[in-house]
Amino acid sequence: MSSIPLDKMSWPDTLGHEPRLEEDFQDFKAGLNEIEAETEANRCIHCYEAPCIQACPTAINIPQFIGRIGSGNTLGAAKTILESNILGHSCALSCPTEVLCEGACVYHHLNHKPIMIGRLQRFAVEHAYKTGAKFFVPGEPTGKRVALIGAGPASLACAHELRRLGHEATVYEKSALPGGLNSYGIAPYKMKTGVSLVEIEQIATLGVQFKFGEELGRTFQLSELVDSYNAVFLGLGLGPDSHPPIPGDDHPRVRGAVEFISQLKTLPSASLNWVRELRSALVVGGGNTALDACRELKGLGIPSVRVSYRRGQAEMSGYLHEFKSALQEGVEFHFNTVPVSFTSRTENSIQVEFSQTRITHDGSITVVPTGSFVEVELVLFATGQSNFSKSKNLFAEIPGLEFDRGKLKIDPNTGQTGNPKIFSGGDLTNGGKEVVNAVSDGKRAAHGIHEVLIHG
Ligand code: SF4
Repeated sequence: MSSIPLDKMSWPDTLGHEPRLEEDFQDFKAGLNEIEAETEANRCIHCYEAPCIQACPTAINIPQFIGRIGSGNTLGAAKTILESNILGHSCALSCPTEVLCEGACVYHHLNHKPIMIGRLQRFAVEHAYKTGAKFFVPGEPTGKRVALIGAGPASLACAHELRRLGHEATVYEKSALPGGLNSYGIAPYKMKTGVSLVEIEQIATLGVQFKFGEELGRTFQLSELVDSYNAVFLGLGLGPDSHPPIPGDDHPRVRGAVEFISQLKTLPSASLNWVRELRSALVVGGGNTALDACRELKGLGIPSVRVSYRRGQAEMSGYLHEFKSALQEGVEFHFNTVPVSFTSRTENSIQVEFSQTRITHDGSITVVPTGSFVEVELVLFATGQSNFSKSKNLFAEIPGLEFDRGKLKIDPNTGQTGNPKIFSGGDLTNGGKEVVNAVSDGKRAAHGIHEVLIHG
């Protein structure tokens, strides 16, 4: 799908036509051809109460779509997928299938390789997009208008479902492109920005309106949308990279991992020539963003890539299969270490001082100076992103919005917040999960909104 020319898209021409560094990356899981797909599909034994469906947050009818591929009905397979998950292409490429659908496949119990569900899903949806198939139409107009803040996966899924139910949907997005994490944040060896944009075109064709360059609290206030729309969906996701302050962290080569990934994906490679010249880099963190970042740096050909994590390997929140892949690709892991200072050696290199960490019996961490130093040319912090719980001004004068440990509180069945006109889902409410979780949340909220608008 990345071969579709960007100039065929209707989105603002912001991504441009110049080469981008993300194009240097090969897909880490190659697509299947027709014979491979049919052969693989015919291995599925169509389990009763299929565990793969139960493991999918969007409950795609996996045996049904696989059966359709096996019988040559690839468009029917794509319809089954997209009916449950309109971002089924990006989920096929970015989902941790090893721990979701494929992780639950009964073949594990038979000591056989699980069905390649993600790759079959990709095969079906790519076939549908190539043929230009359209599966959905807008519902009968209801005259109700819904504003959605943020154009990430949760809002996109919500807007798509709202249009199918006949409501108007207008998405307010501060960036120049839609997609949020899908367009700006997914590791390029998993999915490229152009793929995300093609997928969102399918949603836009249902009549979803997009307003770009619109930032909550800067160009508009929440109260204005609450006053002028019948309902509002908050799909803000997470804020910028964050890390604890460390002396010297204002060096220009000390950056946030999410910001760096977004630059690889969207900036012309000519403006990132310095990245191609890097010889060494350090990633700080032990989650999936850290694993994505270190694998990307290796993928760019940087000879020395280290990861520093303050706890042990067993405590890493990143997926084990991603950790193993990073090890195989030559990333060095330094557990129970933290950087404690950065000293500028030159404009392009930094001396990093490390300390050892010890976990005390109550689980807290103490830091023991060791006086060890490493010189690197780039430091990426992948230690989390800020959330909006402290941005009280964003939600000023709106009653009913409450946060619990950084997450916006919602009704788990409808996505409704404490304010009856405001709904939410995705990272703002779950603290940061997968794209597929955001899609599930967005769909749930659309039905919650529909219930209030039509029957409330
Ligand atoms: Fe097919 Fe595996 Fe799902 Fe069973 S669990 S229906 S074999 S994909």
